[in-house]
Amino acid sequence: MTAYDDNNIFAKILRGEIPCVKVYEDDHTLAFMDVMPQAPGHLLVIPKTGSRNILDADPEVLAKTIPIVQKLAVAAKEAFDADGIYVAQFNEPAAGQTVFHLHFHIVPRKDGEPLKPHSGAVADVEMLKAHAEKIKQAL
Ligand code: 5GP
Repeated sequence: MTAYDDNNIFAKILRGEIPCVKVYEDDHTLAFMDVMPQAPGHLLVIPKTGSRNILDADPEVLAKTIPIVQKLAVAAKEAFDADGIYVAQFNEPAAGQTVFHLHFHIVPRKDGEPLKPHSGAVADVEMLKAHAEKIKQAL
């Protein structure tokens, strides 16, 4: 398997080299809004420890990340009055992965509302900030 490369965009976000709209942070985990949301409230949860995806992740890192994925999924459901929450995680290009630092997508879903395309249009940053605030308030 290809080795982890810390030139990926999420490693740059973790180092503060490029901005993100932050939702949650602790010693092990960062959560921020996806710039190309597939639905309002689409956020990403990443461990601070680098791995390419779930296939090379340290199980101890996963054990710290998953409770945060759950916490944010519950908050996003409440914040967006969602009917359901889609949690997705892709491994390698064949499975749709485009950024090679482990991440979990959390996407609020409403009955009858289709998902926008993956890696589609870049959203307005002020809208992403407003959505992040709604999720933070539900935490
Ligand atoms: P993947 O296909 O690897 O699971 O998804 C990567 C996700 O990262 C996509 O949903 C894409 O919209 C998002 N993304 C790509 N570049 C950036 C960025 O610079 N900032 C943020 N916040 N999200 C990004």
